[in-house]
Amino acid sequence: MMTARHSHFGVISMMVLLFAVASLVHAQSPQPDGAGVRRGVLPDRWQASGPQCPPDPKFQVHQYNEDFYILRESGCSNYEKPFMFLLFGKEKVLMLDTGAGKTDVDNVVQGVIAEWLKRNGRESIPLVVAHTHAHGDHISGDAQMKALPNTTVVGLTPADVQAFFGFKSWPEDIVQYNLGGRGLDVIAIPGHQAASIAMYDRQTGILFTGDTLYPGRLYVADGAAFTRSIQRLVDFTNGKIVAHILGNHIEETRTPYLDYPIGTVYQPDEHELELGRAHLLELNEALQNMKGNIVRMAFRDFTIWPH
Ligand SMILES: [Zn+2]
Ligand SMILES: [Zn+2]
Repeated sequence: MMTARHSHFGVISMMVLLFAVASLVHAQSPQPDGAGVRRGVLPDRWQASGPQCPPDPKFQVHQYNEDFYILRESGCSNYEKPFMFLLFGKEKVLMLDTGAGKTDVDNVVQGVIAEWLKRNGRESIPLVVAHTHAHGDHISGDAQMKALPNTTVVGLTPADVQAFFGFKSWPEDIVQYNLGGRGLDVIAIPGHQAASIAMYDRQTGILFTGDTLYPGRLYVADGAAFTRSIQRLVDFTNGKIVAHILGNHIEETRTPYLDYPIGTVYQPDEHELELGRAHLLELNEALQNMKGNIVRMAFRDFTIWPH
């Protein structure tokens, strides 16, 4: 039987513990009230490509909210099925990546921009095209985009990326880029590829991670750089709202630890695109344990894959 003295002690230590926990999480959001970021909706499932491919494969265009669109290339165009992102500010619209193979990505993007302009009663908005990294499945539409009026396409080398965003010290600097009332943070994350960057959209609390973190095979080309980059992302996001982490592919199924084989077009049971900061912490812990000696290791929602 518990004495009064013991139960008081229990209540006080519980209060101390609760206060300590509340202080720890205060930097993130004190209440579960949406955390002050602009909301949006992700699809429960992305359209599956197939099982029979149509003659004219289409992009899936998803409106997360009125100022943020996600494009997903059909697996019938290219098995990589990459995602592309369009973020609208008051002064500029940013497109992240241009996709794989030959598609009509320029027309699709022009269509989205035209719809946005009409809704906002505007004549035009400059388009800036940047890349999560320079691999072929993220840049194939560059030539088409360069041919559009009022469009700037950022170059592909680390030097191009540094010069455009104004990095003084690469990869340590975190650089701000403003679309007009919409601030982005650009974080250099070499390791998957030398010019890899992440972007954090303060408006939605979304962190874009390219091929560095997504539900699939995380190909590591430079283990030491990759390990430092993930630690940098952990440090950057510490205390920040992370509504979603959005990478650029889905290769996992909805079955834990199980991916679709490389080259799969039809993925009717694929994992959702969005990950959270817990995945970033899980990846960082694994990399810290590997101490630069990167080995293939599967986790519930992604696999580390030396390349
Ligand atoms: Zn890549
Ligand atoms: Zn890729």
